[in-house]
Amino acid sequence: MDNLIITDLSKTYKNGVKALQNISLQIPKGMFGLLGPNGAGKSTLMRTIATLQEADHGELMLGGLNIQTQPNELRKILGYLPQQFGVYPALSAEMLLSHLAVLKGIIHRKERKEIVLALLNKVNLYEARKQKLGEFSGGMKQRFGIAQALLNNPKLLIVDEPTAGLDPVERNRFYNLLSEVGEQTIVILSTHIVDDVKELCTKMAIINKGQVVIQGNPIEIIASLNGRLYEKTIQKCELEHYKKEYHVISDRLYLGKQLVHVLSDSHPGSDFKPIEANLEDVYMSQIFKS
Ligand code: ADP
Repeated sequence: MDNLIITDLSKTYKNGVKALQNISLQIPKGMFGLLGPNGAGKSTLMRTIATLQEADHGELMLGGLNIQTQPNELRKILGYLPQQFGVYPALSAEMLLSHLAVLKGIIHRKERKEIVLALLNKVNLYEARKQKLGEFSGGMKQRFGIAQALLNNPKLLIVDEPTAGLDPVERNRFYNLLSEVGEQTIVILSTHIVDDVKELCTKMAIINKGQVVIQGNPIEIIASLNGRLYEKTIQKCELEHYKKEYHVISDRLYLGKQLVHVLSDSHPGSDFKPIEANLEDVYMSQIFKS
């Protein structure tokens, strides 16, 4: 299976916002996490890959397929779950999926029924297939969204911020479904939720202000902070002082106490405790660079 290779992709909106600045990424089969804060450029990148908008500059290749000059070829092998996925609340899951299958060119009735039922089974909605979509929970709607994205058996699946609003059980079920799909497909998961990437992805990139700040394997990326991360419990009123004196990458309350994580090449002082880094630390250190 071919990699998706993005080279030097840039996009400036008419209002002057540089949403993408020379983005280059290599995305292999499996789950790829695209992590970044709101406004980082994730949706712009997802929509550009999905051929819904054009870049000003750069190239997108999937094997021998040039996505910008052959958008119709790409659409045949693309599955896309947008951030806002609307459903018709009065229709049942089976009816809407069957309707969407017709739109995707699956016109033979018997074949269509088989595909629709198999997909509903795959996303664990078979029992709920006659239920109205308006009665579905957030997690059920998202799983339905994956079913429609899989109708054409895509080689590339793009999911944009899929776990927002899901409770932990629904989120877990959704993760399991995605990683199963990722066994045969390139799955790009765009999210601002660090845990989504930590749980699921074998490859990842962090983007901020339209630029790739780090990319690679999450375990190796985390290891890049090893030996440089320290923790200390302080008084809340001391926080400003610590932020001036040290490279504080995160500050949070833990069991009512103020905890800071500090990045330092040498031991910052006896009250600091060396700690193992996690993906949250990497994310914070990249997004809030001093
Ligand atoms: P993300 O998905 O990471 O939140 P977006 O790609 O939606 O980021 O947005 C990146 C930047 O581009 C933001 O500053 C956003 O306000 C801006 N932006 C997005 N869409 C448009 C648009 N159609 N016109 C102008 N600016 C836009």
